[in-house]
Amino acid sequence: MILYNSLGQTKQEFVPHSPEKVNMYTCGPTVYHYAHIGNLRTYIMEDVLEKYLRFSGYNVNRVMNITDVGHLTSDADTGEDKMLAGAKREHKSVLEIAKFYTDAFFEDCAKLNIKRPDVVEPATNCIDDFINMISVLLDKGYAYVSGGNVYFDTSKLDTYYVFGNMNEEDLAVGVRDSVEEDKNKRNKTDFVLWFTKSKFDSQELKWDSPWGVGYPGWHIECSSISCKHNGEYLDIHCGGIDNAFPHHTNEIAQSEAFLGHKWCGYWFHVLHLNDARGKMSKSKGDFLTVSLLESKGYNPLVYRMFCLQSHYRKPLTFSYESLDNTAKAYDKLIGRISALSKDGVAVKEKAQPFICAFKEALDNDLNTSLGLTCVYDVLKSDLDDATKLFVIGEFDKVLSLDLTEGKPAKTQSVSDNEASAEIEALIAQRTQARADKDWATADAIRDRLREMNVVLEDTKDGIKWHYEK
Ligand code: AMP
Ligand code: ZN
Repeated sequence: MILYNSLGQTKQEFVPHSPEKVNMYTCGPTVYHYAHIGNLRTYIMEDVLEKYLRFSGYNVNRVMNITDVGHLTSDADTGEDKMLAGAKREHKSVLEIAKFYTDAFFEDCAKLNIKRPDVVEPATNCIDDFINMISVLLDKGYAYVSGGNVYFDTSKLDTYYVFGNMNEEDLAVGVRDSVEEDKNKRNKTDFVLWFTKSKFDSQELKWDSPWGVGYPGWHIECSSISCKHNGEYLDIHCGGIDNAFPHHTNEIAQSEAFLGHKWCGYWFHVLHLNDARGKMSKSKGDFLTVSLLESKGYNPLVYRMFCLQSHYRKPLTFSYESLDNTAKAYDKLIGRISALSKDGVAVKEKAQPFICAFKEALDNDLNTSLGLTCVYDVLKSDLDDATKLFVIGEFDKVLSLDLTEGKPAKTQSVSDNEASAEIEALIAQRTQARADKDWATADAIRDRLREMNVVLEDTKDGIKWHYEK
């Protein structure tokens, strides 16, 4: 399999540290709110990667942390504690918030057919492991105590900026302010391993440590939990691209300083899901969830298919219009598959070339959209129905779209939807702008409608619209 590795920024042949065994680590959710469909894009693509590795015959051990302590609103040790902010917002304790949103996260995952990782480890279960790792980093001279906190000393590293496609200037943006705020740091890129003195007097969860009562930084969680459950050699580390810096950069610094050798072979980063306003983010407050899509009648697997239709290394823009197009495609596909006869016996030798084509697609840096077209190729082929069903069932071990179970894409008509409401509102605004002789606005709206592939028709009953064929 060829995978793009953010470490080195090239496509590379995937060779795990031990043959046939893949150690995989995923940064889990920060459980202070529901996961949004952007977060879930990342988890869907990671799920496909895990399932494809299993499909290819590897034995995978996938570990995920649950961030229930230590993650501040700026990834660079400044701002508010996210968990504390969530607890305040809902007048609950941090642990109540963590439990509620962890459960909600796995419910969403189940709806999207995202498999639960082999190990799921809340950070608050592993405080002793973090203390141990921090003690070793201090002993080895990679960390220092300053102003009551323990910091990682990035000046001790030969290379700190490991994901070199981002230049130092860009990378430093996240940390520039933090050195101003935190005079204890020796270098602008140093980061906190353990907080004792901080502005969070109201910090709910605190533990005793050799450096005083306090709590761990966010980055140490992932280094330590990965080493605990995956051992010294990690094959693939996954996450959204926003985690590459500073989080993953700091994970590499800590883990390699602790272990004394290279830690992780491949870094798999999923590009963002955007909406009309840019990157979807929890901290912006209003974001889209799986429950919201369900309340609008969508089968959550339509969203999974929407994600699989594009490559994980390209940003993806969400709109209801595109989701509706996917819903139509999903219904047609399910319809064609459910029309296949369930009788007969599959001829596995005949299935082989189709399975090879599917593997070729996914072996090429997880090309899921090409993988999806393999399903259509099977349907178009002259294979008998039983063999078609067998092959599609094999593909679905990876795609996980319930292709042979046939649930509808949407419970209400796809045309009776949010997208048409938006288009009709735009047409009404354009009509008004024309009546007001506000030609600039009318033209801007016409251009916007064109971008949405909407064609307007002047009829005696007023303006009608349809999508461009
Ligand atoms: P968080 O719960 O904020 O720690 O994020 C959970 C995962 O979602 C991480 O891997 C993030 O990098 C990823 N993520 C955050 N925002 C987005 C987005 N808009 N699109 C895709 N992935 C995202
Ligand atoms: Zn992490």
